[in-house]
Amino acid sequence: GQCVSVCPTAALTEINNVDKVWNALYDEGKYVVVQTAPAVRVAVAEEFGAEPGTVSTGQMVAALRRLGFDSVFDTNWGADLTIMEEANEVLQRLNGKGRLPILTSCCPAWVKFIEHNFPDMLDVPSTCKSPHEMFGSMTKTYFAEKMNIDPKDIVVVSVMPCVAKKYESARPELTHEGHSDVDYVITTREFARMVKEAGIHYLDLAEEEFDNPLGESTGAAQIFGATGGVLEAALRTAAAWLGDESDATLDFEGVRGFEGVKEANISVAGHDLKVAAAHGLGNARRLLEAVREGSTHYDVIEIMACPGGCIAGGGQPYHHGDRGIIKKRMEATYSIDKSKKIRRSNDNPDIKKIYEEFLGEPGSHKAHELLHTHYVDRGE
Ligand code: SF4
Repeated sequence: GQCVSVCPTAALTEINNVDKVWNALYDEGKYVVVQTAPAVRVAVAEEFGAEPGTVSTGQMVAALRRLGFDSVFDTNWGADLTIMEEANEVLQRLNGKGRLPILTSCCPAWVKFIEHNFPDMLDVPSTCKSPHEMFGSMTKTYFAEKMNIDPKDIVVVSVMPCVAKKYESARPELTHEGHSDVDYVITTREFARMVKEAGIHYLDLAEEEFDNPLGESTGAAQIFGATGGVLEAALRTAAAWLGDESDATLDFEGVRGFEGVKEANISVAGHDLKVAAAHGLGNARRLLEAVREGSTHYDVIEIMACPGGCIAGGGQPYHHGDRGIIKKRMEATYSIDKSKKIRRSNDNPDIKKIYEEFLGEPGSHKAHELLHTHYVDRGE
């Protein structure tokens, strides 16, 4: 486009997507499903004047129902599914099938960054689609089948903390049988604007629960929102599958917090792993250069483009880089994790069920077809 400053560009993008979502909601022939990323519920209340760190999951669900979505589901469910596939891939690579380190692939900004800047390393990222894409794929196959709805009549809307998710959802490989996994991405701010446009008093809403069967999630899914969280969630399930389900493999404090690159040596069930989490693309570049040179060995790496992770994403309520605000959202994230009865993705009963009923095993042929992707060399 011709826009040179960030602000007008973002404003135009936001207007377009909100209009498309309203149109889908008004279209009687469409079944409109919405999903919300983990980072949204710990920040969106700020748009309505609440203090940073306010968790408003129940009000968020209630507001989405009032806006007219036919099913209000959760990207956190998709995050648990991602961990099943990704932890399985971690164990396979540790067993010699494929290259180490394995890098998490949830952040489309960093995926694009590696495609442009490290095209020689495209076998390093996990092949897992990101959680909202996995969710979209399952909605238009598993859920469509269950509900007996033609997938072409289903519209999947993602409420995301992220502007990069908009172009991610347009990637041609993130489709199945001609249907995009996700139709529209709106940001946390755009969602808040829709709520205001509808005249809903967000903070006064009584709390409601997500719909099923794509609404149930664990603490592991919630921490995807903060830097280090995807790595920690993957380690919880990998540890369980290696035979250690003790509480010692639930909290990996070494990969939490604001340090630019967090490294940890982890020992689970007799396996020693070296892991790292980087946030901010400058830190990511340094880490990837070290991997390319072979100067340090890692087994698993998480990279998030936004400093702090998705809680501080470009689609969130403005925080102007204020560490105090981001810290409050981070604390809210880990408090949700702590409050969950189930904190490992592989223990999510609805996730177990979808493997039994539909996908088979993690890494199965069907899982590969629907939940995995590939990367494109975009180097000069
Ligand atoms: Fe989007 Fe930023 Fe999260 Fe990456 S870290 S997925 S760019 S919000």
